[in-house]
Amino acid sequence: LREQLRHLEELQRLDARLQEIDRLAVALPKQLAADQEDLGRIEALLQRERAQLQETEAYYEKLQDQVKSEEGQFHKSKQKLGQVKNTKEYLATQREFETLKQLASTHDEELAKLQAAMEQFKQSIVAHELDVNKLRGHLESSSQRTIAHVEEMRAEAVTLRAQRDAISKHVKPDLFKRYSTIRIRRGLAVVPVHDGVCKGCNMSIPPQLYNSLQRANTFETCPNCQRIIYWSRLMEDDSATTGA
Ligand SMILES: [Zn+2]
Repeated sequence: LREQLRHLEELQRLDARLQEIDRLAVALPKQLAADQEDLGRIEALLQRERAQLQETEAYYEKLQDQVKSEEGQFHKSKQKLGQVKNTKEYLATQREFETLKQLASTHDEELAKLQAAMEQFKQSIVAHELDVNKLRGHLESSSQRTIAHVEEMRAEAVTLRAQRDAISKHVKPDLFKRYSTIRIRRGLAVVPVHDGVCKGCNMSIPPQLYNSLQRANTFETCPNCQRIIYWSRLMEDDSATTGA
């Protein structure tokens, strides 16, 4: 019985690791893909910001040219104002002069706003470039690591499965069947009972059952969680497998 239990516990350990490997083999590449998507999002954002900056710069230059030509008009208008010959002409020129003055002040404000916007774009671009570079560097190394790690785990799984097959040959077929059924349903299939408490479900087992566990002649099942149970002291010298 002790030997059978030891086999079952070893089986359980191998199965747990195999399950973990299966989980990681899916989860790690998934995480990598998610990180790559993040990078793609920031890169797209960066591209949009660069395009916006370019557009703003183009508009700024256009406006600057316009302002220059308006300045020319303004000076002309000012000169004209000094040379007018009658009131009617004066009033018209005065109106033109005021309009141009107003336009110049509006455009100055607009240019200042554009400059501030361009400055902001530039700062944001620099920050996002840093993010992209950091993330890209991280992804490069982590993707290589992940691929290597998954490879290693696959190789490990092959070894573990071979060990599992070898051990399962030593387990009595009906016990093995019982083990497999519980394992699929509950994860842990074989658990110790310590001080009358099942370590699988943390419930007390009936004293009678605890007594027969201590005699260790038969395989018993926890009445609450249906796991295969054994007396914890029975395997105590087997430190590698108890208490897991
Ligand atoms: Zn239980």
